[in-house]
Amino acid sequence: MSATSAPVTSLYIHVPFCAHKCEYCAFYSEASSGELINRYTAALVKELEIVADDLKPKTIFFGGGTPSLLNLRQWETILRTMEKFNLLGAEEFTIESNPATVSADKCKLLRDFGVNRISMGVQSLDEKLLDRLGRIHSREQVFKSFDILRAAGFANVNLDLMFAIPTQTMEIWRATLDEIFAMQSEHLSSYEVIYEDDTPLFEKLKAGEFSVDEELACDMYEELISRSAKAGFRQYEIANFARDNGTPVSDPARLEIIGPSRGGGRPSIPSFACKHNVNYWRGGDYHGLGPSATGYVRGVRTRNWSNTPLYCDQLEKGKRAIESSEELPPLKRAGEIAAFGLRMNAGWPFAEFQRAANFDLRKEWDSEMNQLAERGWAARDAETFQLTHEGLRFADAAAELFLR
Ligand code: SF4
Repeated sequence: MSATSAPVTSLYIHVPFCAHKCEYCAFYSEASSGELINRYTAALVKELEIVADDLKPKTIFFGGGTPSLLNLRQWETILRTMEKFNLLGAEEFTIESNPATVSADKCKLLRDFGVNRISMGVQSLDEKLLDRLGRIHSREQVFKSFDILRAAGFANVNLDLMFAIPTQTMEIWRATLDEIFAMQSEHLSSYEVIYEDDTPLFEKLKAGEFSVDEELACDMYEELISRSAKAGFRQYEIANFARDNGTPVSDPARLEIIGPSRGGGRPSIPSFACKHNVNYWRGGDYHGLGPSATGYVRGVRTRNWSNTPLYCDQLEKGKRAIESSEELPPLKRAGEIAAFGLRMNAGWPFAEFQRAANFDLRKEWDSEMNQLAERGWAARDAETFQLTHEGLRFADAAAELFLR
């Protein structure tokens, strides 16, 4: 850290272990082995020690993999290290969990160290579909684990769902949504199944075991949007929905657009939006620790080795396990920030983009914005540019126009 720069306020930590590899998964994770998890824990402690001076986290996110797979002793080692280096006390501290690995004693430990948000990978409440996806949990475990989280005092819980799962019908999707809404979580993320190369699900698709019904997938997405609104959620990103309790958010520098809906019909960001992810979409800096994690700090993007033993080797020698490091030209980075931010319903207020990217969207991307507006994919006024309902469905294609 240079003498003048403020420490980074966002921290991502990747936990690269799962009890069993899901059929569709292309994230870097592997089936767990006790010894390697202990070695990873010790290496992560070293990485935290190296980076701690440049961190004052307002948001922390442990993702994976399955972070909830770590045992009590491993969690305590990590959290005590964070305590020692003054990394606790974040406004939002999220841990991803699998419904099969939630327990009351682990929840208590996490709460004691300031974890205040859990993101639970439900994916479906239909046993056959859970089986098809290769998930290790049952529908009963979803309800049980949710009760354990609430009993432990977690008042901010995200539930992750998938739709367009092979053989899933609209009836099954509606039934799942009804049961999920009845659980009254604060946040919902929902993604269409994607077929990544080299996953068992992709191989089955290629072998003709099932086919993809694009029209049904679109209908399911529309159903998600309309039903979640009726259930009291506000969509704030293509796949993310949150409740709004009207509480303004305290960090005006980065999170000023999170808060109660403002007048004028302009979408704002609901108070239970995931602040950590909003920071990504708004182009904020973050440190990324753990195997395969990427970070973006002061114009430099880094990526750690996607190889847990190699990650451990490097840290055991006292150095960070960085595979690649790239300094992005400012205009290229600004284009990326523009593209990410368009995934959000709020789009880009021009002044907000200028603060985030140091470029004027109206000057650098004027014709691209007009092109999207003429196509009906975007709306533009004196202050803001945002994708329309139709544009959000084609956000990836729209975003391409901004990449330089
Ligand atoms: S639990 Fe998550 S990270 Fe692990 S294999 Fe399944 S989808 Fe991938």
